[in-house]
Amino acid sequence: MSAPERYDVIVVGGGPAGSTTAAFLAKAGRRVLLFEREAFPRFHVGESLLPSTLPIFDRLGVHATLAERGFQVKHGAAFHDQESGLEHTFYFLKDKPWPSYAYQVPRAEFDTILLEHATKLGVDVRQPATVESVAFDAEGVSATVESHGQRAAARGRFLVDASGRAGLLSVRVGRRERVPNLGKVALFAHFGGAWRAPAPDEGNIRIYVFEDGWFWWIPLAGARTSVGCVMHARTVREWGGPLDALYAEMIRRCRRVAEGLRGAERLTPVHTEANFAYRNAPVVGDRFLAVGDAVAFVDPIFSGGVHIAMQSAELAAHAIDRALGDGRFEAQRFAAYERRVWRGLRPFFKFIHKYYEPAFLELFLKPRGAFGMIDAVLSVLSGGAFLGMRWRTRASLALLFALARANVWVRRRAGRPVESRLEW
Ligand SMILES: Cc1cc2nc3c(=O)[nH]c(=O)nc-3n(C[C@H](O)[C@H](O)[C@H](O)COP(=O)(O)OP(=O)(O)OC[C@H]3O[C@@H](n4cnc5c(N)ncnc54)[C@H](O)[C@@H]3O)c2cc1C
Repeated sequence: MSAPERYDVIVVGGGPAGSTTAAFLAKAGRRVLLFEREAFPRFHVGESLLPSTLPIFDRLGVHATLAERGFQVKHGAAFHDQESGLEHTFYFLKDKPWPSYAYQVPRAEFDTILLEHATKLGVDVRQPATVESVAFDAEGVSATVESHGQRAAARGRFLVDASGRAGLLSVRVGRRERVPNLGKVALFAHFGGAWRAPAPDEGNIRIYVFEDGWFWWIPLAGARTSVGCVMHARTVREWGGPLDALYAEMIRRCRRVAEGLRGAERLTPVHTEANFAYRNAPVVGDRFLAVGDAVAFVDPIFSGGVHIAMQSAELAAHAIDRALGDGRFEAQRFAAYERRVWRGLRPFFKFIHKYYEPAFLELFLKPRGAFGMIDAVLSVLSGGAFLGMRWRTRASLALLFALARANVWVRRRAGRPVESRLEW
């Protein structure tokens, strides 16, 4: 058998993280081989994008193609708490390094566009092809790949783990640390003919918080709406029946969702995801690094997943290109990449823990412009943390968290609930 052709980089996974890393490396003139185990288009959760991702589309050269598809545009995010009746819509701010809008995308279509773009830029995409194992040596990395019942070998100088929640490297050679108390379960489906807000709010994501968890309501183009319920683990534990019936029961319990779906028709099966909050290790090593969900995932409430995937991918591609330039691939060379990724992820981890505290949620839904607090929250929620946070933003967030601590005390004195919903 002849030796496999040698590539600069092997990428495992063709989701947003994999296709973006591969595309940027191909743009830099590198030879890239990408394996994706599923045939596209395929259904995937994660349809609401953030404004800070749009400049990445520009740098990739794929924005015009995406814009032509007529994806639903969103201008903000509306939050509603059933218990208190509080409601607030956050509109993305103007005068930021990113636009004041984003898209809602069916991922089957979006991921296909990104992967086709990578192919156009010269990435060798093999699909469906599953990477079964990888082995590193002093000169490079070998992968064993299964496709259509056949096994083949591939050889590269460097490996990118973009395998998403499957976490190829963390599961085989590293470890996965679950985030305590975020053992949530999500059930979701697409509907036709659901309620739409009047313009200009018709495309905004809506988050409905209720006793058993929270719903996302993502209006997609063409009168299709993605409706997903993220439930506390105890709600699922206490339920003995089938998941479809649990989903229907959650819709019944969340009044805004039940009203919005009156007369609507379910177009897809009910999908499920469980236990999706974790951190993986290692993120970087000699001749490899991980991007996107293969690094960590916290909670979908702030729609950060695709942005984290694509932003980490762009940073990774630059670091790998430099390493290829001088032929040195030791883990230390990628330490700065890893630091930047955690810096971008940290605010999402911090916010999610706060978000489930009623005292914080109350302040969040009655936001005050004083001391730049709304600006700071929106900066984080738009994905700005990867670009670095100015001291003013950090100070404003610290103030918001301090006010939330004070509100715990106020609520306790008034005999109102303070228990974090994370514990549920
Ligand atoms: C309930 C829920 C709701 C969410 N909502 C949002 C949202 O509204 N907005 C948002 O931005 N994010 C959301 N996310 C997160 C988002 O789905 C992910 O963060 C995003 O898809 C990560 O992209 P990725 O490329 O890292 O991984 P993926 O998109 O999962 O891509 C990984 C790819 O790797 C392939 N693969 C895996 N193993 C192998 C292998 N061995 N060989 C070859 N290929 C392989 C898989 O087939 C897959 O296509 C949500 C997540 C959950 C769980």
